[in-house]
Amino acid sequence: MIVPFLDVRASYASLKPEIDAAVLRVLDSGWYILGAEVEAFEAEFAAYCEARHCVGVASGLDALVLSLRASGIGPGDEVIVPSNTFIATWLAVSQVGATIVPVEPDPKTHTIDPRRVEDALTSKTRAIIPVHLYGVPADLDPLLEIAKRHGLRVIEDAAQAHGARYGGRRIGAHGDIVCWSFYPGKNLGAFGDGGAITTDDADLAAQVRLLGNYGSRQKYKNEVQGYNSRLDPIHAAALRVKLTHLDAWNDRRRAIQARYTAELPADLMKVQRVSQVMEPVWHLSVVRCAHREKVQAALTARGIATLIHYPIPPHRQDAYAMLAKEEGSYPIAEELARQVLSLPMGPAMSDEMQDAVIAAVNEIAAAGL
Ligand SMILES: *Cc1c(COP(=O)(O)O)cnc(C)c1O
Repeated sequence: MIVPFLDVRASYASLKPEIDAAVLRVLDSGWYILGAEVEAFEAEFAAYCEARHCVGVASGLDALVLSLRASGIGPGDEVIVPSNTFIATWLAVSQVGATIVPVEPDPKTHTIDPRRVEDALTSKTRAIIPVHLYGVPADLDPLLEIAKRHGLRVIEDAAQAHGARYGGRRIGAHGDIVCWSFYPGKNLGAFGDGGAITTDDADLAAQVRLLGNYGSRQKYKNEVQGYNSRLDPIHAAALRVKLTHLDAWNDRRRAIQARYTAELPADLMKVQRVSQVMEPVWHLSVVRCAHREKVQAALTARGIATLIHYPIPPHRQDAYAMLAKEEGSYPIAEELARQVLSLPMGPAMSDEMQDAVIAAVNEIAAAGL
């Protein structure tokens, strides 16, 4: 059996008549920038996230950049980010001219380690960007407590965590502002690029809205040097349809992860750990393997597609060569980059496909490496 990593077309196929009608409604309306469809999505997504405000933007990266700018963060300010994340988290800090301060994760949860955050604080620290990596919420309570004690902003990177909960409450407004991506492969994905912020802070929401629309509230009156970063109505219309199915899709992801956790051989692969306060949505199912390349090759040979999120930590990327962070600078991020392996995961994955993955892994474990 061939098992794909993720079938992004499946959610469209299952909802085709509804999504087609929603997109055609926008085409027929003649209204292609902002407007009623975007406002409706913003209201529905804010309600879903248990947040007071939502503002659509053009991408997850823009959501982070605009959140930093709306928080008044720029040159001379330090921002704490995980040493293991998708590069966008770092790029946003660079784009506003602030200084990146990487902090290592807890290797069991893969999310930023609050104890290490405390050690990284200086008089210049202005914000922490926890990333809810792979759909598992970062340990927010201790981070919020540190932020409160030191007067820091908490800007959550929730690009992989649509629908997750922490302490019984949805990700959406635990921190000051929460950044979302609707890149097609995310748990809630559009048919192109898209993003949003959610927050309980009306001023922050207004500031992001202003910045994302040329710094203009009133046409041809520009208050600040803004950006063109808006969520398109076509995407908003499709996302409104998909949002009503997100909980069911996340339930399916949780069922798949539960089986992986119970049925994969623990000596060959370690699954991501979570604590009681976290209700993850398993954007990805990432395991740690001491012999990753061999395991991946053996799975490929058996028709099982896997990926690596992410093979090179940001500090080792050419894009950050100027930081001169040698091999060994962030050993936990580096070891995770060598060991992580993402197994097939998605709402459309069948029981038979998962049977095939689990059987293949157990076969590889039994054969020895
Ligand atoms: C996808 C992603 C982003 C960026 O989102 P885009 O919409 O692709 O710009 C940021 N952070 C994380 C953790 C992501 O996974």
